[in-house]
Amino acid sequence: MLQWTIGDVKVTRVVEVEFTSTVEGFLLGVKADEMARYQSWMKPFLDAEGDIVISVQTFALEVDGQRVIVDTCIGNGKNFGNLMPAMNDLQTAFLDDLTAAGFPPESVGTVICTHLHMDHVGWNTVLRDGKWAPTFPNARYVMTEVDLGYWSKERTQVVGSSFDDAVQPLIDAKLVDAVASDHQVSESLSLFPTPGHSPGHVSVRIRSKDQQAFITGDMVHSPVQLARPEWSSRADTDPELAQSSRRKFLSVVGGADALVLGTHFPAPTAGRLVKEGDGWRFSV
Ligand SMILES: [Zn+2]
Repeated sequence: MLQWTIGDVKVTRVVEVEFTSTVEGFLLGVKADEMARYQSWMKPFLDAEGDIVISVQTFALEVDGQRVIVDTCIGNGKNFGNLMPAMNDLQTAFLDDLTAAGFPPESVGTVICTHLHMDHVGWNTVLRDGKWAPTFPNARYVMTEVDLGYWSKERTQVVGSSFDDAVQPLIDAKLVDAVASDHQVSESLSLFPTPGHSPGHVSVRIRSKDQQAFITGDMVHSPVQLARPEWSSRADTDPELAQSSRRKFLSVVGGADALVLGTHFPAPTAGRLVKEGDGWRFSV
């Protein structure tokens, strides 16, 4: 289990599943051979065929005296029909793994959803007596006002049934805090707006004792997008806005000594931005 310390904050990675995708299948208008020049440092994030490895995982934080979960993966027993067949009806030991990592569901005080796609909200709920019920009964679920507003109207295309299964039950239980995209969650923890992948998408910023880290969310899916911010994922709602968010992120984080934790990056998952030419390389 990978762990990092940022000042007084401890971050633990809990993995649900991993997928692979071809470069062309994942990045809009990018050919596999364009990846070759990044091979030296992209190697850990590609499989033997050169396909992109996508890890679906949670970052579990001990921060400012509480336990916080950032994104809740896909969940068990969810069904998205033809939209994302590989994610249908999973049965993983994710909750046991989370508990073993020191985060039994009832101990979690805050759940942050970087956005409301199905692979980020799944474990918000579990099936109890035939109904989707809150997995973390004592938590406030933090979501941006913008994403909530957008996806409550656009329930089909990208999010499939996940709004009804993993968001609406929390709204009904009055557990949701609809917040601004720069919301301060607690002293060391804030949201950092990175719209584009979804309209209200946020990354998460950790600051403690002069140390700093960012959890990307789906601002990027692969570290290569930090070197090539113009490369959008096919899942980005607004590729141009996503690109400008990546550039803005690089302008803030590129010069700073900050750890970058990739929400979909397989192990080693975290690294720092190192200047290379007029761009950046992800150094682990
Ligand atoms: Zn995702």
